[in-house]
Amino acid sequence: MPKMRAVQVSRPQGPLELVEREIPEPGPGTVRIKVQSCGICHSDTYTKEGLFPGIQYPRIPGHEVAGVIDAVGAGVNGWTAGQRAGVGWHGGQCGYCDACRHGNTFACLTATRITGITYDGGYAEYMVAPAEAVAQIPEGLSPSDAAPLLCAGVTTFNALRNGGARPGEVAAVLGIGGLGHLGIQYAVKQGFRTIAIARGQDKEALARQLGAWHYIDTQTQDPAAELQKFGGAKVILATVTNAGAMQAVIGGLGINGTMMLIGAVDSLAVPPLQLLRGRQSVKGWYSGTSIDSQDTLNFSVLTGVRPMNEVFPLERAPEAYDRMMSGKARFRVVLTM
Ligand SMILES: [Zn+2]
Ligand SMILES: [Zn+2]
Repeated sequence: MPKMRAVQVSRPQGPLELVEREIPEPGPGTVRIKVQSCGICHSDTYTKEGLFPGIQYPRIPGHEVAGVIDAVGAGVNGWTAGQRAGVGWHGGQCGYCDACRHGNTFACLTATRITGITYDGGYAEYMVAPAEAVAQIPEGLSPSDAAPLLCAGVTTFNALRNGGARPGEVAAVLGIGGLGHLGIQYAVKQGFRTIAIARGQDKEALARQLGAWHYIDTQTQDPAAELQKFGGAKVILATVTNAGAMQAVIGGLGINGTMMLIGAVDSLAVPPLQLLRGRQSVKGWYSGTSIDSQDTLNFSVLTGVRPMNEVFPLERAPEAYDRMMSGKARFRVVLTM
């Protein structure tokens, strides 16, 4: 049997191990992707640390996968060998549960499949994915640029385009990190007056380089009051994982404004009187399905949005993972095969 190199986790909290595995065969309804690049996302901790309920080992992590389809299983329509393709967090859906039948395939009730968690992901030279989980990668985007857009990219792009703001209105992006540096670019390119919010004056230059129209430093300014000087934000994209930082900007929402939460915190206090008087909302947003990813990739080529990456070869995955966990990477960490 032909072999491939892969990086797997054998037990909860176990190390990332470089191993040789048989190249998987695509079963019915699936395609095999020859992986070129795979991003390392903070959510890979679910696999590394055994945090996901029911996860089985050994497991190959990775849900920011970019490559080329090299084999197609029985019954697959619309995909052929040689096509560029990627997979993100959303790893497939059943098509017959109530959520799927309502068109909410992202929330499939019966067969929730997550790339790199419920089946093997992209820290490998090959992986197999359900055909409906695959996004086409357009020309003009390198594999290492495409990979982070399949999780961090689609999450920010899709939350912003569903946040209710229209071109010309104020969008605020809270946090300039792995998500925020993409969120600022997408907000600018989607036509919003984009205000970046972060701690410290040192981040202003980068925010403006990414296209931000205005910058608010939460160390010296009250972000809610500052946003109100511009009439309040129609959408706030909250990319941070700090409840206090989120609560400090809610007061910056404008009339009919929405705060889109894409960073997870345990709990969050909201001001009901402010929300009801301004008809405002605080809303969670799931990243997106494969067609949302495809839209993200196409939009990125169209408008020049790119992630800022630190790239490592597959065999240095443990070092690359530690770099991501350190919080010091600027801004996404990507493995190349
Ligand atoms: Zn992710
Ligand atoms: Zn379903």
